[in-house]
Amino acid sequence: MERTNNMGYGITYFLISLTNRCNKHCEYCVVKRWVNNLEFPDKMKTEDLIAFLKKEFQAGDVVELTGGEPTLFLDLEMLLSWLKEHEARVILRTNGLHLSKWRGNYDNLVVVLAKHDSGDDYMNERKKYLLPCDLVLDGIPENIKQKKRFEPVFIADETSPLTSHPFKKTCFISADGKVKSMPCCSEDMGTVWDYTPRLYRCCKDCSHTLGAWNLVQRIGNQFFTQRT
Ligand code: SF4
Repeated sequence: MERTNNMGYGITYFLISLTNRCNKHCEYCVVKRWVNNLEFPDKMKTEDLIAFLKKEFQAGDVVELTGGEPTLFLDLEMLLSWLKEHEARVILRTNGLHLSKWRGNYDNLVVVLAKHDSGDDYMNERKKYLLPCDLVLDGIPENIKQKKRFEPVFIADETSPLTSHPFKKTCFISADGKVKSMPCCSEDMGTVWDYTPRLYRCCKDCSHTLGAWNLVQRIGNQFFTQRT
């Protein structure tokens, strides 16, 4: 039976851009407009995000952490610990910059490690820290290469065959603390500091949310058996 929270809806998908900073400058970057651009400074601290999540997060919800490079976010481990304690299913998209032993502390997490222009030695070093559920993207997907620069597009994980997801609500938080339904959505939902929970989802068939649901299937049954 599908779980619902006290607002009457089921699993929520939170997509959080933790930082606009990145150690790389990839030509095909889908968030290039924001990355390392001083016009778009980071504004959130871990405490801000946790206070926001406490307003409506429920165990079993999916939280995808991205950027920029999310391992540059100060206190990433504090956020990951809170998410584990509250039984979130977490996706971390990273180029592996600060990936290390801490990864083994989070069995509620799937890491998507992207090679970008990194060398094989760098990748082999980072892969040592991955768990079997993690995904390595060794190349640049064709659908990204072919998109226009600055056009935000998202990668669906095609390694799983699921064609539907259970999300009744989506919530995107940008590194400046603004809240929308998804990055491409024009609906303004305030900021993490003044956010009032509401039920909103922009596109039913969004490929990014489907990709996220596919990705969290890789984590394992300890979370899924009770909460789908
Ligand atoms: S590593 Fe990712 S976020 Fe950073 S510039 Fe490259 S594509 Fe963009």
